[in-house]
Amino acid sequence: MHELGIVFEVVKVVEQVAVVQNLPAVDTIVLQVGELCGVIPVYLDECWPAAIDKKPYFKNTKLKLDVVPGMAKCRNCGEVFNVIAYEGYCPKCNSFDKDLLSGREFMIKEILVPEDENVEEESAQSATTDSTDSTQSKGE
Ligand SMILES: [Zn+2]
Repeated sequence: MHELGIVFEVVKVVEQVAVVQNLPAVDTIVLQVGELCGVIPVYLDECWPAAIDKKPYFKNTKLKLDVVPGMAKCRNCGEVFNVIAYEGYCPKCNSFDKDLLSGREFMIKEILVPEDENVEEESAQSATTDSTDSTQSKGE
């Protein structure tokens, strides 16, 4: 399973960033994973505990995956479609000739440091209240 190697590599890169930027801790690592980059997101999740097993610094660090859909544009009719869903064939004209638009990405998108937890909770609560109010407003 090459996902384990990838996750180890991610940990290594983030460790270096943490040292350079003098981060006290890392709360969440956001990875951008394209559907077509050859990495299975579920495996990354499964490998994560093993990758940080001997790294106390990452004890409370979560891995978050931002999956980018594998989209392509048909060269024959111009239809834009999901490559995985249609197994590479244009759903409109059945052509296999296409240009990939997205889905090959694999990168560390964000490294989030822990914020003051109280502040975070308060903002989450006020957001909930706001949405309850807005459901009662009539027409737009
Ligand atoms: Zn087509």
